[in-house]
Amino acid sequence: MEKEIEKVTAILPSAGSGRRMGKDIPKQFLKIQNKPIFIYTLEKLDSSTLINEIILVVRTEDVNAVKETVEEWGIRKVSSVVPGGKERQDSVLNGLKILSEEVNIVVIHDAVRPFVSVEKIEEVIKVAREKEAAILAIPVKDTIKRGGDGCVEATLNRNFLWSVQTPQAFKADLIKKAFEKARQDGIYATDDSSLVERLGYPVYIVEGEEQNIKITSPEDLLIAEVFVDNY
Ligand code: C5P
Repeated sequence: MEKEIEKVTAILPSAGSGRRMGKDIPKQFLKIQNKPIFIYTLEKLDSSTLINEIILVVRTEDVNAVKETVEEWGIRKVSSVVPGGKERQDSVLNGLKILSEEVNIVVIHDAVRPFVSVEKIEEVIKVAREKEAAILAIPVKDTIKRGGDGCVEATLNRNFLWSVQTPQAFKADLIKKAFEKARQDGIYATDDSSLVERLGYPVYIVEGEEQNIKITSPEDLLIAEVFVDNY
């Protein structure tokens, strides 16, 4: 049988404004030990032999500076730096729009998750290759309740709950279809895989790692300062 040549593209949404961080510059551009957070993330993707190219999505005003920074830090696989949109989903869509026809697998990873391991990136890609859609997630540690009007409405069964991370990886045709349908229906979701779920496709869970935090708040930045020497 002829072996199919697989092309894997990573899309890195990095166009957030970082309101919750309360700083003037977006969190992905903040530096830890003199290196911008998104560069740590890019280094992980760059060093996976399974990834062929990286599409970086940033705010329009940051495109030129980001191109320079990528070059300065010697990141090799960034093929395009494109402007993002209002919501994260709009930013990912802008990355999907420029995918070339020969791409088989798309890996979507938040720029603000620099401590993901290369092993986990590759595990998600391998499962997506087999099963079409895969995400990283970790079991929740807290008890999760649903509330409303200051009162508990229900206590959810923790045995079935996962805290979802990125990367998430998909067959290219499937994720393009899912984003197009969401656009038509005016649906916005908080992660990419839920758009695939709405189409009725199974999404496989790969158990992730605690260290793969999303740097969102000033407290996360303190944790990141410690993690940076270890992961
Ligand atoms: O908004 P949240 O903290 O979940 O952001 C996750 C990732 O999505 C970040 O890397 C952020 O830069 C990116 N993002 C984006 N475009 C937006 C909003 C967020 O690329 N409009």
